[in-house]
Amino acid sequence: MPEKVKITFLGTSGAVPTPERNHPAILISFGKENVLVDCGEGTQTQFRKAKISAAKLTKLLITHWHGDHVLGIPGLLQTLSFQDYNKILRIYGPRGIEKEMDNVLKAFPSVVVNEMRNKLRLDVKEASRKFIDEEDFFIEAFPVEHGIASNGYCFVIKDKMRIDKNKLKKLGIKPGKHLAEIKKGKTISYNGKRYSQKDLAFAEKGRKICIVMDGIYEPGIVRYAKESDALIMESAYTDEFAELAKEHKHRTAKQCAEIAKKSDAKRLFLTHLTNRYDKNPEVVLNEAKKTFKNSFLAQDLKSFEI
Ligand SMILES: [Zn+2]
Ligand SMILES: [Zn+2]
Repeated sequence: MPEKVKITFLGTSGAVPTPERNHPAILISFGKENVLVDCGEGTQTQFRKAKISAAKLTKLLITHWHGDHVLGIPGLLQTLSFQDYNKILRIYGPRGIEKEMDNVLKAFPSVVVNEMRNKLRLDVKEASRKFIDEEDFFIEAFPVEHGIASNGYCFVIKDKMRIDKNKLKKLGIKPGKHLAEIKKGKTISYNGKRYSQKDLAFAEKGRKICIVMDGIYEPGIVRYAKESDALIMESAYTDEFAELAKEHKHRTAKQCAEIAKKSDAKRLFLTHLTNRYDKNPEVVLNEAKKTFKNSFLAQDLKSFEI
């Protein structure tokens, strides 16, 4: 079985939080990686409510520097300092992130220092294209039109070659280090016979999570969202308010569904609904479902695995 990736919605509100919905924050957990996308006000409390330790965080990705997506950063840093966070917290964002983070630390210098005077180590960088490329996964950033510098992010688990134990058994081959070359695509010889990758291994399909927060409807997003296992999108409005959505540089549920459909995504999660839908968020969901059946409403502290 492939290692699962878990997505936890820590906050799903629009610009103004409600008792049920906190400001935007999404956690992607895969192996030892815990990547937080956006850090709205109160995100550290949401971690506690979700019973996840914020100290496990490895990376923080910021989509754009609007208050509802970043006001939780100083508080989170202060808690990590007090928890003796001993890794380097890597923070990525769109153009200008270094300057914005400098401003945060100038305004709140104490948040990165604990009572033992130890300093939290941060590494802040602009993210573009494939800015993280590890053995098992990569993360890609792409521009989103929202009136200020904004990024969307794709977290992609790579396809992996796995040794097929059944095939080994049938062929009478013992498992072990001699199969390492097979994983690299090379042939091996065993008891005088040659075996290639396709004789002994199979490809385990990777997975893709694409997160596109605040922004206008851009057909170009399809290129990045293509064949996502989970596409998570800001869907502030319904079609009735399409003009208003455009004016405020946000999207409608119908537009999100169109992107999901054109992308051949497996599932669409709608988030960042305006307060207008506090009492009846289903109208947003129902609108999306008309175009893209496999649509869901993101909910605070709910998670799913793929
Ligand atoms: Zn927002
Ligand atoms: Zn925004």
